[in-house]
Amino acid sequence: MADESFYRILFVVLYALFASVRVYYRFVKLKRTGPEKAAKERRPFGKAEAVISIAIVGYFGSIILYMLNLSLFAWTQIPDYPEFGRWFGVFVALTNIPLLAWIHRTLGRQYSPCLQIRESHSLIMVGPYARVRHPMYTVLTGFSLGMALVTANSLVICFAILLIIPFPFVARKEEQMLLETFGDKYREYMEQTGRFFPRISRKREANPSNDSELRTDN
Ligand code: SAH
Repeated sequence: MADESFYRILFVVLYALFASVRVYYRFVKLKRTGPEKAAKERRPFGKAEAVISIAIVGYFGSIILYMLNLSLFAWTQIPDYPEFGRWFGVFVALTNIPLLAWIHRTLGRQYSPCLQIRESHSLIMVGPYARVRHPMYTVLTGFSLGMALVTANSLVICFAILLIIPFPFVARKEEQMLLETFGDKYREYMEQTGRFFPRISRKREANPSNDSELRTDN
């Protein structure tokens, strides 16, 4: 059985990979495509805001504690944790990294860390968005939980769970905003897609032969 420092290194490597994809698409790529136009509106996350803040601080705080390996927090490591759990976590986290790149590439300039509609905002309905309305939230959930499993640390696992709880609320708020902006186009899109996972059956086929037609400007 590998010792804990091996999993700590693995954790850092996986996180660095995930973070580089994020940084590349959020800062490097968006800068290259020209200056960002001012946001038309910015929606608060509502009641989820407090939970999100606590979860983010708790999640990264517990990761730092895990990395520092203080004897005071030794009790947070789950005893007799199965090695399979660690490797399952590695697998889940790893598969989500290329998915994040695909999602960012597809969403392009419409991405924002908060809820907002940019000037000349396009409704994206291709790539991962052809079947799922919030693939990024699904990937963030998978990655956070996968990474928590790698640590075998009860604090990290608890905060990773807390971190994903607000996603359904945020997604609902985001859908309200997109409905107000795109109206029937978004309503129809909602009927064709699942919120976090692809729908098993689609009500009506949305012309799969020509995906480019599904990307329409506002
Ligand atoms: N919830 C999405 C996107 C997260 S980024 C996901 O999980 O993949 C948040 C921004 O994406 C929001 O400000 C919203 O304006 C934008 N957005 C979400 N879905 C979109 C879509 N289908 N087309 C264009 N913009 C979208």
